[in-house]
Amino acid sequence: MKKTLNDIDVNGKRVLLRVDFNVPLSADLKIVDDNRIIEALPTIEYLVSHNAKVIICSHLGRPEGVVNPKMSLRPVVSRLGKLLQKDIVFVEDIKDESCTKVLSSLKDGDIAMLENIRFYKEEENNDKDFAKLLASFADVYVFDAFATAHRKHASTYAVAEMLPNAVGFLVEKELEMFEKVLSEPEHPFVAVLGGAKITDKLPVIENLLDKVDTILIGGGMSYTFVKAIGGDVGKSIIDNKSIDLAKETLDKAKEKGIKVILPCDNYGADEFTATAKRKCFSSGFFAKDFQGMDIGPHTTKTFKNIIKDAKTIVWNGPMGVYEFPKFRRGTKKIAKYIAKSKAVSVIGGGDTVASVQELGLENKITHISTGGGASLMLLQGKKLPCVEIIENK
Ligand code: AMP
Repeated sequence: MKKTLNDIDVNGKRVLLRVDFNVPLSADLKIVDDNRIIEALPTIEYLVSHNAKVIICSHLGRPEGVVNPKMSLRPVVSRLGKLLQKDIVFVEDIKDESCTKVLSSLKDGDIAMLENIRFYKEEENNDKDFAKLLASFADVYVFDAFATAHRKHASTYAVAEMLPNAVGFLVEKELEMFEKVLSEPEHPFVAVLGGAKITDKLPVIENLLDKVDTILIGGGMSYTFVKAIGGDVGKSIIDNKSIDLAKETLDKAKEKGIKVILPCDNYGADEFTATAKRKCFSSGFFAKDFQGMDIGPHTTKTFKNIIKDAKTIVWNGPMGVYEFPKFRRGTKKIAKYIAKSKAVSVIGGGDTVASVQELGLENKITHISTGGGASLMLLQGKKLPCVEIIENK
């Protein structure tokens, strides 16, 4: 078990808090969705009420080591200030002399926020000297940026080794939820997997084979499986290098008595566009100039019946090309079925979460993970490096 906020003394201490404030901004730099800020509030409020001097550090977008005003954290500073009803000191350049002065003038309960940490190329290089500079600002390090927990960067990894540390409430909640479903799931346990990158999902299936009862497969990855069992998938996306492994995985599942259910029908398109002609095909019987874009109506019915009886559900990856409204149907139906079920449900991944949000079903899901890549790594049975580096209790 990792140290959490309850295991460390923050009273009067300077606390470097790494969060993920990578919020979407509009062209005129307004925050489109402040969920990531809201998710970090419990940790920030705890630190403030326990008299810490809070120094918040985050990235925003991919500035790739270059200062880019379009990716400044300035809009986040003002939104956070409004949410907390508190003035927040903004530190524009941590390499400027004034930074140390500003930070050392913080009083107990004050908050400062550093400018986008990815404006410095040292950040993504996990640079030790840069991490030393960050460590020099604080007495304690708190890691609460779950969405970046799979990436070893200076502010998420190297700095953690240099200070007494703990995870924040958000990371604690994420770890607890994944632990709950992966270690002590109530059965039937159903995994729903979709999306395009089969190379990400095959290790998930491998890890889940000893835990789940049924795996429902949709999305682009399903066509490699269908091809592996001899189906005709027309122009659908295929990962030729994964065909053998997909077949082996299906055989392994069969040996273990795990049901892996592939789509029995799919909506296909004559081109990869939002306005393409849509036609339904039985699985493995695509017309040669069509490609699979979504699961079909019989598949959604089959998946519905399995989801209905589940006691535990994990879901990662859309059932079709979610970016095109015409091919969102399957993903939205699955979101609805999972929301309606009484199962403990844990979901992660950009389009997966977006579908639940689009339908306003957030409150009907037990846990919506804030990290796509990080949650995938946990589903693959791997450890998150930025969590592993945190001290054990
Ligand atoms: P992933 O990152 O692996 O979860 O994949 C998400 C992406 O998969 C989304 O951008 C979807 O558009 C894409 N996707 C899902 N189904 C299909 C499909 N049938 N054909 C092409 N792309 C798909």
